[in-house]
Amino acid sequence: MSDGRAAERVAKFIKPLRVKPGSTVDLTEDFDPRYKAGMKKREGVELLRTGVSLLADHQARLAAQDTYGVLFCLQAIDAGGKDGTIRHVMSGVNPQGVRVSGFKVPSAEELDHDYLWRYAQRLPSRGEIGIFNRSHYEEVLVVRVHPENLDRQKLPEEAKGPDVWDRRYREINDWERYLTDNGIKVVKVFLNLSEEEQRLRFLKRIDRPEKNWKFSAADVRERERWDDYQEAFSEMLSATSTPWAPWYVVPADRKWFARICAAAVLAHALIGIDPQYPSLDGKARKELLAARRGLEAEAP
Ligand code: ATP
Ligand code: MG
Repeated sequence: MSDGRAAERVAKFIKPLRVKPGSTVDLTEDFDPRYKAGMKKREGVELLRTGVSLLADHQARLAAQDTYGVLFCLQAIDAGGKDGTIRHVMSGVNPQGVRVSGFKVPSAEELDHDYLWRYAQRLPSRGEIGIFNRSHYEEVLVVRVHPENLDRQKLPEEAKGPDVWDRRYREINDWERYLTDNGIKVVKVFLNLSEEEQRLRFLKRIDRPEKNWKFSAADVRERERWDDYQEAFSEMLSATSTPWAPWYVVPADRKWFARICAAAVLAHALIGIDPQYPSLDGKARKELLAARRGLEAEAP
């Protein structure tokens, strides 16, 4: 397939997943976790392979050009499939050009800073793809569903009012715009899992000894807040899907399909950047040719 054709196909494929900036999302109504674009798993595996090699090629050019960076944010409810998605989507790329950062309950040091501080520390440099396994969006998700997290953040009184979430949406949008303007492209994927599929995945984690480590009793307690999370996700998607950093809602009940979608969203961003290998100027080219003559002259 030509590059142009592949780019078109990727763009068409991810279009239904994109949250139109300015639209109001009702996650449960608007996005089906079981959607699979009429695709069969066998076709999907083939497509993922194509996607992964396209990513590898673009990543090599991104690194060589050293001008743009990509921040890939992955959000999901527990058992949404973040880890597996990262493993599969990045399977073909050079590990030197990728940095994965996970975000858990903030440390005392992190709580002693403004809330975006710890995420800023983990941003990709130019030429790099940074992956956030959970991201700054936790600050309007878990922190919102469990306001005691906000209390721990030691904010001044005037920063804790009822407008705190609207303010955070604005601050996050501004931060992402700033990053975009500076050559760091922000790509955001939300893995959309159904309540029933989460139940089945938790059961697997309990029943299979090799999966036990992934399960914690806290996960079941979080599940009781399902509706609150869906509401927080919906508001987040509505408020922070922007022209410079739109959200993509990826149907996550079928792992194979979610991986293709995530790869396609990342590929689309890289295609948009269209990174190029640096070309040599006249002087550098002359030096290269001189070195070549030298090496040839050494031939036994
Ligand atoms: P996952 O469940 O995504 O596979 P994990 O099990 O490896 O990740 P956990 O030990 O569950 O990691 O830690 C992640 C926990 O940290 C989540 O419950 C998440 O809600 C919480 N967390 C992340 N960011 C924050 C934050 N800013 N404030 C409070 N809690 C947070
Ligand atoms: Mg967990």
